[in-house]
Amino acid sequence: MKRARLVIPGGVNSPVRAFRAVGGQPLFIAKAQGANIWDADGNRYLDYVGSWGPMILGHAHPAVVEAAKNAIERGSSFGAPTEGEVRLAELICRRVASVKKVRLVSSGTEACMSAIRLARGFTGRDTILKFEGCYHGHADYLLVKAGSGVATLGLPDSPGVPADFAKHTLTLPFNDVGKLRELFATRGKEIACAIIEPVVGNSGLINPAPGYLEALREVTAESGSLLIFDEVMTGFRLGVSGAQGLFGITPDLTTFGKIIGGGMPMGAYGGREDIMNLIAPEGPVYQAGTLSGNPCAVAAGLATLENLGAPGTYEQLEGICQQLEDGLKRALRDANITGVVQRCGSMYTLFFNDGSAVKNFEDAKKCDHEKFKAYFRLMLERGIYLPPSGYEAAFVSLAHTRDDIDRTIEAAKAALAGIK
Ligand SMILES: *Cc1c(COP(=O)(O)O)cnc(C)c1O
Repeated sequence: MKRARLVIPGGVNSPVRAFRAVGGQPLFIAKAQGANIWDADGNRYLDYVGSWGPMILGHAHPAVVEAAKNAIERGSSFGAPTEGEVRLAELICRRVASVKKVRLVSSGTEACMSAIRLARGFTGRDTILKFEGCYHGHADYLLVKAGSGVATLGLPDSPGVPADFAKHTLTLPFNDVGKLRELFATRGKEIACAIIEPVVGNSGLINPAPGYLEALREVTAESGSLLIFDEVMTGFRLGVSGAQGLFGITPDLTTFGKIIGGGMPMGAYGGREDIMNLIAPEGPVYQAGTLSGNPCAVAAGLATLENLGAPGTYEQLEGICQQLEDGLKRALRDANITGVVQRCGSMYTLFFNDGSAVKNFEDAKKCDHEKFKAYFRLMLERGIYLPPSGYEAAFVSLAHTRDDIDRTIEAAKAALAGIK
C-alpha cells in the first residue's frame, strides 16, 4: 500500500476500494475462485463484494474464463462490428422488454452519461432529476448528492464540477411521493429525464416504497419527461429482466453495466426505438467508443448472461439470501443490538440504527457508521469480506453455498457480540 500510495492517488484506482470508512489498509487481491478471494499474503476470505456487483456467477466461472480466453486468442479489439455484439444486444432486448435497441459502451458511468445526453437530445430540455443517495457514475452533473464513495468519504458535491453544469440537476429525496408530485406539478415540463436506481444500492440497500416507482412513471409520462432506470447494479441481478421486471414498470431508457460484462469493462444503454434511433450514425446525438463492444468483454458478458438464464438461478439466489437475512436478523436480536437488514434478491445491507426502516439517504446517513466500522473489522477478522462502507450493498453470488451462509451467520453472531 505504501508503494501504491506513492504512484496512485490514495493507492487505489477507485475511491470505494480504500478502507477510509472502516480503517486499516485495503486487501490487495491476488486471486479469486467461486465465492472466495485470496489476498496477496495468501489469506482466504468469503467475498460479499463480488467486484461491486458483476460476479453473480462467482469468480472465475469456467464458462466465462473459457469464453474470454477463446475471444482474446482471436484478437482483443478490432474497432469494427462483431457477431458477438449482435448476440449480446439480442439477448438483452429479449430479456428486458422495454429495451428495443441497445448501444454497448465500456462502463456504467458512460452508459448513464450517454443516456442523459440522449434524453436531453430527444426532449430538447436541459434539466434532469436525480434522487439523493443514488449513484450514476462520476459524470459532472451526476455528482450531485451522489451515494457510494462520495457518501462514504462524506464529500460535498465534488470540486471541479462547474456550478453551471450542476445547476441543471434537480434532486429529490427517494421514496417521497408528495415532493415528487409537487416538483412535477411546477417544473415537470422543464425536465428532460428522471434517472433513478429503482432499488437503491449506493446508499446501502433501499427498496422503493409500494407505489413510488408507479408514481414516478406516471408523472414523467404526463410531463413528457423520460424515465431512465439505472440498472447498472440491479440489471440481471434482481431477476431475468432486472428491477423493472420485478416491479412491472416500463422505463423509457435503461442503463446497464457490471453483470453484463461478466467482470470485464462494459456498460450499455437502451430503450424505446424512437429514442434510440436518435443516436449517431442513425441520428444526430453523438456517442462513440474505441473499445465499445470489446470482443473479450462481450464474450464474458454473454457467457454470464447465458448461465444466468438457466432455470432456477434466481430462485436459488433468493433461497440462500433469505437464509442469510433471517440469520442476520436473529444474530442482531441475540446480540441485543438494534438495526435493520434490508434486502432485495441477492443484494442486502445491515444498517445499524434504532431498528426502523431506512427509506432514503437521510435515514442512511443517520445510521451508526462507527458500529458498522467495528462490525466490518470483526467480520474481516473472521474471514468475511464485506463492502468497506455502510453506504453500500453486499452482493451474494450463485457460488455461495448454504454452508457459506451458515458460516457467515456464525461470524456475524460473534462479531455483533464483540461490538458495544
Ligand atoms: C456502479 C454503478 C454505476 C457506475 O458504473 P461504473 O462501471 O463504475 O462506471 C452507475 N450506476 C449504478 C447504479 C452503479 O451501481
